Amino acid sequence: MVSAFIFDLDRTLVDCATTDLWREARLRPRVRQDLNHVKAFAVTSETAPHEMPGRLKERGHPVAVVSSFPRWCAEQLLEAFGIAHDVLVAYEDTVEHTPHPAPLVRAAEQLHVRAAAGCFVGSDAVDVEASFRAGMLSIIAGWSMGPADRMASAAADLLVYTPETLLQPECFARRGYLAEVTCANLEPLVHRGSILPCGGQFEQYALGRYFAREDPRHAGSALAERILELKHSDADAAPFAAALTAFFRQVEWTADYLIPVPPKPNQPRNRFEVLLALARAGIPVDTTLTLDGLRCVKRIDNYKSLGALDRSDAVAGAFEATAPRNGSVILLDDVITTGETANACARALMAGGASEVRVVALARDQHTVAGKVCPLCGRPMKVRMNRSTGERFWGCSGGPNRCHHTESLNPG
Ligand SMILES: [Zn+2]
Repeated sequence: MVSAFIFDLDRTLVDCATTDLWREARLRPRVRQDLNHVKAFAVTSETAPHEMPGRLKERGHPVAVVSSFPRWCAEQLLEAFGIAHDVLVAYEDTVEHTPHPAPLVRAAEQLHVRAAAGCFVGSDAVDVEASFRAGMLSIIAGWSMGPADRMASAAADLLVYTPETLLQPECFARRGYLAEVTCANLEPLVHRGSILPCGGQFEQYALGRYFAREDPRHAGSALAERILELKHSDADAAPFAAALTAFFRQVEWTADYLIPVPPKPNQPRNRFEVLLALARAGIPVDTTLTLDGLRCVKRIDNYKSLGALDRSDAVAGAFEATAPRNGSVILLDDVITTGETANACARALMAGGASEVRVVALARDQHTVAGKVCPLCGRPMKVRMNRSTGERFWGCSGGPNRCHHTESLNPG
């Protein structure tokens, strides 16, 4: 369980947005002047973000602060806002900086805790990657999060909008994204961060994160295993139905229709049929569940191998609303990758008379944060598995006759 907390200072504990430009330019005198413009985050909760380190320390948790400001500047901010901490890792304390894990590793060392006992509370994709590479739980502070469509594919393990959520690390496993919690056979503790906002042309929301097979996080993800299974059988429909039910408990809006993305012409089975039957009792009574509200009228070959632009072409005109349906629609999808399928379906629903379409996906595909290059030949490294032992390791993509380089997945 998480016992130690490491906070990003600049955009998580205090709002330094107005000073960014001058910090980049390394114009020291101007930064001094700009420090006066640093603000506390206005969060409607009992405890402001910058007060959290103090409250966690009162409860016996070791606390470190990591900053990309030089030490003199970080210290000035910590003092001005009265931010309690045991350790400060400032810009000059490490040679490498985030997304390199060095500042987080240094913080854990100075706190005398194992990396696995720590979490990093940050504000953007760089912080998520640094946490992963340091072997720590990643938390994104919702009050400082960047644009939803950019964060959605680089989502943290935990998304927290209310600072007090951090006071219960024993509940972190149940406060994850709904479908990840239900797929791990846990009962979700529903809060605003249980649903991942994904932005998009039509508002998109995801109930969890999907990690591709080449991402080392795939191995530890119950959702990834079970959502792949859902393509072939309904044996794993129940946890996704439970997540969808929890979703409707949490959101304040409903819709007139709930319509799933239809099967492609070569897919005889509707993968949402059993799932939606299981979720029926949890779907608001005034929402009409329409399993065949859309149909796919075009063959789409090798969709998975296409890039975003080709996908957009491939799905153009591929979907039709089966009947005019006026009113708001929730479109249900399984995994959002580029969002092109969902957008094409949403456009078809709008053409069929819908006043508004929002997309709810079981999972949002994630960028692999472990992009790794072979030190011998420069080709990308991929996560491979030893078929006899089941052990996973890094292997060069150079192929068996060209480069054999392998590395352990978790060095050190
Ligand atoms: Zn190689």
